[in-house]
Amino acid sequence: MKRFLAVMGLILLLAACSDGGEEREGNVVATTGQIGDAIKIIGGEHLQVTTLMGPGVDPHLYKATQSDLTKLDRAEVIFYNGLYLEGQMQDIFNQMAEEKTVLAVGEQLDKGALLADDEDATLHDPHIWFDIDLWKEVVAAIGATLVGEYPEYKDDFEANEAAYLAQLDELKEYVTSRVEEIPAQQRILVTAHDAFNYFGESLGFDVRGLQGLSTDSEYGVKDVQNMVDYLVENNIKAIFIESSVSDKAMKAVIEGAKEKGHAVIIGGELFSDAMGAEGTEEGTYLGMYKYNVDTIVDSLK
Ligand code: ZN
Repeated sequence: MKRFLAVMGLILLLAACSDGGEEREGNVVATTGQIGDAIKIIGGEHLQVTTLMGPGVDPHLYKATQSDLTKLDRAEVIFYNGLYLEGQMQDIFNQMAEEKTVLAVGEQLDKGALLADDEDATLHDPHIWFDIDLWKEVVAAIGATLVGEYPEYKDDFEANEAAYLAQLDELKEYVTSRVEEIPAQQRILVTAHDAFNYFGESLGFDVRGLQGLSTDSEYGVKDVQNMVDYLVENNIKAIFIESSVSDKAMKAVIEGAKEKGHAVIIGGELFSDAMGAEGTEEGTYLGMYKYNVDTIVDSLK
């Protein structure tokens, strides 16, 4: 009997090994740099994280390459922003979700905490990473999902997540105090597209983008003209370009303002939807956010 149980045990063990219980490699794929960064920090040495969208890449227009499809296919878990940020990839995520865990991090948040899309009542603003408090919830959702997928690393994941959440609190303190250097009436942020509404909402800026929430909407002469009028009326002297959006439209705005006798400069280049190069400070969420705030404050104060 004892021997029979031992054999049965061995058979069950072998069955478990061959049926989905094989050694998992910790292969995780993220779409954006912001999400990939959070996974790398929580996963530490245990995960191999691949980020599909590098520096300068616009997620609104991004189409998956053949090599992306291979990476997504091989991934054990996939994280994406959702809320239609990666609008061209939605079908792929739906398909992948039939086989593995696929988490749209923005869609885990309470809808009441999201900003509306003024042009389409059924949609929400997807640029959630610019509200640090909301992003902390995203980080927690990523952490919980990773613990569910790789329970063997639970303790490490939870310790890494807790340390990162504390760093995000420090970031919020830093940027809040820096923003106070700008007189309240000068806290107007003008950018190429509407990526900074959560930023403005959480840090007390009026925000104006030339293009809408998605860069897939065309802008026209009228939009440029309206922006020029806005700059003149509000006596705005600095506007900002974005690393993932062409600066052509903003240069047209500056030219238009000049024709009306109003001098405007480019206050700097901000990281909006994409982060900086890997290995640099701005290639991390904390560094990217700090860089943006330092650039804005130094230019507007
Ligand atoms: Zn955007």
